Amino acid sequence: MSPDSQSSGEDEQDTIDLRSDTVTRPSEEMREAASTATVGDDVYGEDPTLNELEARMADLLGTEAALFVPSGTMGNQIAARVHTERGQEVLCELESHVYRWELAGLAQHSQLQVRTVDGSPRGRITPTQVHANYVEASGHRPGTGLLTLENTHNAHGGTALSVDAIAAPAEAAHELGVPVHLDGARLFNAAVANGCEAAEYAEHVDSVMCCLSKGLGAPVGSMLAGSESFIEEARRVRKLLGGGMRQAGILGAAGLEALENRERLAEDHERARQLAAGLDEIPGLHAGEPETNLVMVETEEPAKPFLDRCEDEGILASAFDSHTVRFCTHLDLDDADIEAAIEGVRKAATGQQS
Ligand SMILES: *Cc1c(COP(=O)(O)O)cnc(C)c1O
Repeated sequence: MSPDSQSSGEDEQDTIDLRSDTVTRPSEEMREAASTATVGDDVYGEDPTLNELEARMADLLGTEAALFVPSGTMGNQIAARVHTERGQEVLCELESHVYRWELAGLAQHSQLQVRTVDGSPRGRITPTQVHANYVEASGHRPGTGLLTLENTHNAHGGTALSVDAIAAPAEAAHELGVPVHLDGARLFNAAVANGCEAAEYAEHVDSVMCCLSKGLGAPVGSMLAGSESFIEEARRVRKLLGGGMRQAGILGAAGLEALENRERLAEDHERARQLAAGLDEIPGLHAGEPETNLVMVETEEPAKPFLDRCEDEGILASAFDSHTVRFCTHLDLDDADIEAAIEGVRKAATGQQS
C-alpha cells in the first residue's frame, strides 16, 4: 500500500484500531453539517449553532444550561474549579480519570487536595465511604469541597453504574453540604446499558461532563451541564483556561450530528461482548464480560510485547497496566472487523507460545 497519508489521512485499510472510541473519523454528515453551519463569535455568545447545541444538551440532561468545552478534561477541571475554594479536599475514586489521568489538574488549576476512595471492583462509591471520608473544615482541617463520580467508569472497565449507584453517594454528599460532579465522559453508554435516560443521572448531581468525541463520534468537544449560575461561572473559568472559542459552531454542528448516535451505542456494546467472548478463548488471555464498549483483557505475559505483536498483525489496543490491555469498540468498526480482530489477536498470542 502506498504511503498516501497526506491524501486521505486514513489508516492503511487492514489496521483495526481498538485503542479508544476517540479514534473515529467524522462522518460525511458531520463534515457536511460543519461546512454549512451558521456561525458567529461564541465568546460574544453569538454562535447560533453552538447555542443550539448547548440548549439541546441541557434539554437531554434536564439541566438549566450547558456549555461546550474543547475536551472532557477541561470540562472536569472547570467543574472542580467552580465548585470549590482553594485548599479544600476533593473526594475521588482511586482509579478515576480526574485523579489519575489529568496531570494533577485539581492541584495545578484549583489548588485542591485529593482524597481517594477505593470503589473496586466497579468504581462505585458508597454513601458509607462518603461519610467516612468527609472532612469538616476546622482550624486544622481543609474541609471537603467536592465529590466526583464517574460513569461509565473507564479504568474499572467501562462499568455502567445504575442511577441508584450515582444517586446514593450524591445524596450522602448533599447531606454534608458537599456538591457533586459527575464525570460522564461516556454517560450515554451508561444510560444505554442500563436502559435509562442520561437525565436520570444528571438529576442527582450538581454538574455533569459528557464527551461528544468518544462513542458519539464527534471530531472535537465535550459538554458541561448544570444550573444557570454554575454554567455562567463555568464560562468565565473556560475563558481563564484559554478555552473560549470563536466560530465554534463549526465544531458544534458536528456535535449536534453526534448526539444522533446515542442509541447506536448499543451496537458497540454488543460488539464488545462478541470481542470479549472471542478473546477469552485465546490461550493466555482472560476477558471478563464487558458492560459497555470497553473490553479489559488480562494477559499472562506482559502487555507490552503482546501489544507489539498485535500491532504486527494490524490490531491496535491500549496497555492499561503491566498485564492489562484495553480494547474499545466504536462506530468505525463493523462485525467483520471484530472477527478479524479476534483472528489477528489469536495469531499474535499463539505466535508467542510456539
Ligand atoms: C476520556 C475521558 C475524559 C477526558 O476526555 P478528553 O476529551 O480526552 O479530555 C474524562 N473522563 C473520562 C472518564 C474519560 O474516559
